[in-house]
Amino acid sequence: MTTAVKTIGIIGAGQLGLMIAEQARLLGVRTVCLDPSPEAPAFAVSDERIVAAYDDAEALERLCRMSDAVTYEFENVPGEILIPLCGKYDIPQGYEPLYDSQDRLREKTNAREHGLRTPEFAAVDDEASLRAAVARLGLPAVLKTRTLGYDGHGQRVLKSEADIEAALPLLAVPCILEEFVRFDYEASIVMVADDERVVSFPIGRNIHRDGILDLCVVPAEADAEVLSRMKSESERFMRACGYRGILAIEYFVREGAIYFNEMAPRPHNSGHYTIEGCTTNQFRELVRCLLGMPLEEPRLVAPTVMKNILGQDLEAAERLAAERHEGVHVHLYGKRESRPKRKMGHVTFVGTDAAAYAAAWADRFVR
Ligand code: AMP
Repeated sequence: MTTAVKTIGIIGAGQLGLMIAEQARLLGVRTVCLDPSPEAPAFAVSDERIVAAYDDAEALERLCRMSDAVTYEFENVPGEILIPLCGKYDIPQGYEPLYDSQDRLREKTNAREHGLRTPEFAAVDDEASLRAAVARLGLPAVLKTRTLGYDGHGQRVLKSEADIEAALPLLAVPCILEEFVRFDYEASIVMVADDERVVSFPIGRNIHRDGILDLCVVPAEADAEVLSRMKSESERFMRACGYRGILAIEYFVREGAIYFNEMAPRPHNSGHYTIEGCTTNQFRELVRCLLGMPLEEPRLVAPTVMKNILGQDLEAAERLAAERHEGVHVHLYGKRESRPKRKMGHVTFVGTDAAAYAAAWADRFVR
């Protein structure tokens, strides 16, 4: 008897593609990835590869033809190319969540329209509109490029009027000015939704350094009522927007008030802990969702801390891997070139809370 093995196409072959491909394989599902870099991490595990630009329409169509369902780990796939493909092939998440998240102004407007609270914001295109926005929102405030920003790139905190001058070069492209939220903590949620249900992974507390996620602590060690409200508001938002597939939302929390910061319709760095920290993980549930398989409700196995490994911590992570500690899971993405702020891997400490991490492991990494 032969069975029909399914194939998932992934636009992008970075570490997210790598982990989708690894989890797909465990479910007996093949993968094909498309990425402009022949050395991209996911190519080491995907069954097939297409080396091509993200805006190469012919190559994207080839990826779709080779796949039973297609997803993306790269967020800036142009709409002109993806929208026609959505009509012809099975791209269960569609273009909408990408479109809604590609521009910070649209993203925050959409969040508000669908019931979430955001920091105050204003569109800014030139010095005059920046000064007007500063007058309205007050200082400090954060100026961000509307598109293509990530991990703190393309943003600047304005603390006083004197900072405005130095921030003007950012205005070479359309920007957004946001109220600076003096948050008590940052948190995020990852959800996967099909037509029947939304499953959500336990909320993590996120600690950033230089605008890049450093640690994710789960449970979030925060007020249970706030976390339960975050979960229900997030699930309601995902349904109200009509999104299917995977969605991650990052929030700021201040005095119990929850502010939407940004979202991503792909697996999220703050959800990497789910691989060992939960009974099922964000990559596996995405694969299931893409192929119409029933979703599984995740449960936290034990308190878990995820530490991101940037270039400067690569050697420390390699040492940890060699030492083989129980409950310590080292993931290295196999990137050829290591740079100080580049994400090279992550380590998941299962059975460890924030205090235990600080006492036992924090010293191993660059401070
Ligand atoms: P983002 O790329 O928007 O996620 O921003 C990166 C990090 O900068 C966030 O995780 C926050 O730590 C900080 N940040 C961004 N926007 C704001 C804001 N409006 N108020 C305070 N901190 C912010």
